[in-house]
Amino acid sequence: MDVEAKISELRSKIREADHAYYVDANPVLGDAAYDRLLSELVDLERQYPEFFDPNSPTVRVGGAPLDAFASQAHERPMLSLDNTYDHDDLQEWFDRVARSIGSEPSVHPEPHSLFGDQAVPDVLVALEPKVDGVAVSLRWERGKLVLALTRGDGVRGDDIVQQVRTIRNLPLVLSSAPEVLEVRGEIFMDDASFAHLNATRESAGLPLFANARNATAGTLKSLDPSVAAERQLRFVAHGLGVVSTELGSSWSDSRCRLEAFGIPVNGPSVLVRGASEAVSEIGRFDQLRHTLGYPTDGVVLRIDDFALQDQLGLTSRAPRWAIAWKFAAEQAPTRLLDVEWQVGKGGTLTPRATMAPVFLAGTTVQHASLHNIEEIERKDIRIGDTVLVEKAGEIIPQVVQPILAERTGLERPIVAPEVCPSCGQPLVRVGPKIYCINPSCPAQIREKLAWFAGRDQMDISGLGDKLVAQLVDAGLVNTFADLWRLDVQSLMGLEKVAEKSATSLIEAIDQARGQGLARVLSGLGIPQVGVVAARTLAEHFDDHHQLLAASAVDFEALPDFGEITAQLLWRWLHKQGGETVLSDLAEMGVDLRSVRAESSQLQSLADCVVVVTGTLPTLGRKDAEARLRELGATVTGSVSAKTTHLLAGEKAGSKLTKAQSLGVQVVNEAWLLAHLDTPSE
Ligand SMILES: [Zn+2]
Repeated sequence: MDVEAKISELRSKIREADHAYYVDANPVLGDAAYDRLLSELVDLERQYPEFFDPNSPTVRVGGAPLDAFASQAHERPMLSLDNTYDHDDLQEWFDRVARSIGSEPSVHPEPHSLFGDQAVPDVLVALEPKVDGVAVSLRWERGKLVLALTRGDGVRGDDIVQQVRTIRNLPLVLSSAPEVLEVRGEIFMDDASFAHLNATRESAGLPLFANARNATAGTLKSLDPSVAAERQLRFVAHGLGVVSTELGSSWSDSRCRLEAFGIPVNGPSVLVRGASEAVSEIGRFDQLRHTLGYPTDGVVLRIDDFALQDQLGLTSRAPRWAIAWKFAAEQAPTRLLDVEWQVGKGGTLTPRATMAPVFLAGTTVQHASLHNIEEIERKDIRIGDTVLVEKAGEIIPQVVQPILAERTGLERPIVAPEVCPSCGQPLVRVGPKIYCINPSCPAQIREKLAWFAGRDQMDISGLGDKLVAQLVDAGLVNTFADLWRLDVQSLMGLEKVAEKSATSLIEAIDQARGQGLARVLSGLGIPQVGVVAARTLAEHFDDHHQLLAASAVDFEALPDFGEITAQLLWRWLHKQGGETVLSDLAEMGVDLRSVRAESSQLQSLADCVVVVTGTLPTLGRKDAEARLRELGATVTGSVSAKTTHLLAGEKAGSKLTKAQSLGVQVVNEAWLLAHLDTPSE
């Protein structure tokens, strides 16, 4: 089989597996088998850049960062929907629809009411859950995904197609689709991915996203598509834009066609006649929606028939044939029992409410956020109060307000602590925020170490929160490097630690020495430096020496590093003991080289003899030769029988002719860049 056929076979196998997994929810390949196919494809595409395809499944891992989003006009404006929370409004909408349709004598000879017994039998209204995400208009041309525009102002949006291509449940290539197919829909994050993202951010000392919609919007705003790839976004279709050949005469027909193309459509959908049926379906859906596993904030109602939709038309901002029913935020009263001040990794103290258990939005809730002391004072929330708790798309419930009518006079005010509940040192209050600035505060050290040992960082199995607390309390570990000073003997001195588990823990800690720079950096709790930023750093710096030699300006030049992140990182390294932390780790034999440096040592071009000729698009000749050597290639000046590759740019001349006559493989700069860019993991 030739290479091109092999590549296309792999691409279609992977697409089938994606479809089976994400659309049919019936996986046909195990994870390992899937990863094998994908990595085989990555290898082939790297070797044969001439078969590049922007819609290959390999783009799912994210491509190179963009400089900016290109703005573009929507071929058909992207309108939003009118909203209502109110049953009367809903009835009025049904009435209006009935009047408009009834005014067309050829369709309905007399005006009808859509209510109760007088429902117009042939006016079907389709109901679908309203997913709470970010709206986007996708465009496939000749079956290939070419464009993904945000709503923007409805007339122009930003092209986020690179980000959208990383969404795994979205087919990038369609077979048998119309020449032009625009599908409008919602990009969103499901509950599990959102919870995971916020947990990761919390441990990294990064600000949390208030809800999944904000997290999705934030992710899509990143110019680096690998951020989107990492965050497991999903897509669901909820409408059509320009379509060259109609998919059907109604939305429900078109939905089926979209589904057949492998485009995910919006969960449960029902057809109703009239407002009373709609209201009961909305009620039923309200009961169901917390079991869906993704955020919804209402129900979309639309006239199913396209001809009737056209007849109803649009206002300047919204279609007349659709309306969104929005659910009110869910609230419930409960008793506030206590407030705990928790010390985070960065030393911030946050108030957490403990409440009498209450059933709210599908789960039993016992804890809620109180934000900060200013909020508490402003709302006059007291311990013992009956409070209103709310979950409005947020995973973490919030205390909304005390119910003053229920006060007995026995309530106690919540007082901001003056000393740290962990170390007893005086606290610092800056505006609404309260900090413990004691660098050896045990609570902070515990938080930091537990994060450092975590699965995405040093991955030390057996070192959980409890054991970390024991180690810190016993004074055995005060710094990251102290972990490698532990021995079996001292561990066995701790309560409930047997020799066997002590031995395996020491082994796990020993092995964690080799995790590499990116994981170490993401584990140190550097302000604003989480998993993604740490990986970016490791992609640009070979080891901690290079990192320490860099300036804040160098950091600012990195993708997705703003001025503040760059400054904070530089200060952490040079003013806040970061340099010592790193050199202590290095002294304990922890590998602080980047995976990039390691992969250079793996020397993916080790068997290649390469000649560089002509003018390359971006790299100078010397630069290209240096990079080839980094990758382990032998670089020579003239083409011979031993030459394996000719890296040719423009005006390649006689070397190209000679290489061709000898059957030497001719490659371009993209081939070299692909070798440099691809992470070795
Ligand atoms: Zn403290």
